[in-house]
This record gives sequence, C-alpha cells and structure tokens, in this order.
Amino acid sequence: MASDGKHRMKLACKYCFKMTDRLSGHLRQLCRKGADEAEILALVQEARATVRKVASNLSVVRYQYLKAGVDSDRSLDFFIGFLESKGCFIRDKPSETQSSSTEIPVEEVQKKEKEEAGVQRPTSRVPAAIGAGIVETSPLVRGRSAKFRDV
Ligand SMILES: [Zn+2]
Repeated sequence: MASDGKHRMKLACKYCFKMTDRLSGHLRQLCRKGADEAEILALVQEARATVRKVASNLSVVRYQYLKAGVDSDRSLDFFIGFLESKGCFIRDKPSETQSSSTEIPVEEVQKKEKEEAGVQRPTSRVPAAIGAGIVETSPLVRGRSAKFRDV
C-alpha cells in the first residue's frame, strides 16, 4: 500500500484517552504542549505499538480464560457479547444450543401419536421428520448463520 500519509489509523492519547487520527498534532496542541519533536514522535510510536498489541492479544480470546475470571454466567455472557461486538473471536466457546427448551423428546411424540391414532389422522410423516433430526437441527443451523452474520 502506498504510504502517502493519508492512510492513518486512529490512535489513543494516553493522557486524555481521546482517539484521534492526528495524534502528533493533538499532543502538540493539547496534552503535551511544549514537548520537543523527539518526544512527540516517541509518543506516537508508542501509541502505534499499543494498537498492534491490542490487535494481537485480543483478536482471539480463550473462553476458558474469561470463564476463570468471572463469578457468574451473566458476567461471562456480558464479556463474551462485549468482545464479540468489538470484533474479537472467542475460542473454544461451547455450543449455544445446549439450554434450548424447544427440543421435543421422541418418546413424547410417539405417545402423542398413539393418543391421536384413534382420530384417524395421517401423522406418520411428522414423527419421521423428528426422528431424522430435521426438527431438532434447524434451530442450530439458524443460530450459527445468525452468529456469522454478526461477525
Ligand atoms: Zn490527549
């Protein structure tokens, strides 16, 4: 990529926590008035190094590491949602469909089928679909595609 100076990344000022794409000018005019160019340059380089560090340390976060640091599922959900919303990937995250209450046990369906058998209804195709896993897997597929869309 051509480095004509226009391709700039926003950097954080460590004194006032402002994000700016003109950190050197910001430091000169506001937070480090009177500083020499060497100091300004060093501060800008430090801010660039910080951005690289954040990107490499937080691009992928281990689920177990987060879980070990929080004391409730609510906090865990919050941090995972927060990090994912910022573009981080959560590694080794367990499947989200475990707590699903929409699953219908096969025995329940078969019992219901027997009860309805006296009504003379051709219900044989519906339990077959459940047995083949079609009904159970569809929420899982939907959940996954929704997740990918967010990222
Ligand atoms: Zn500042």
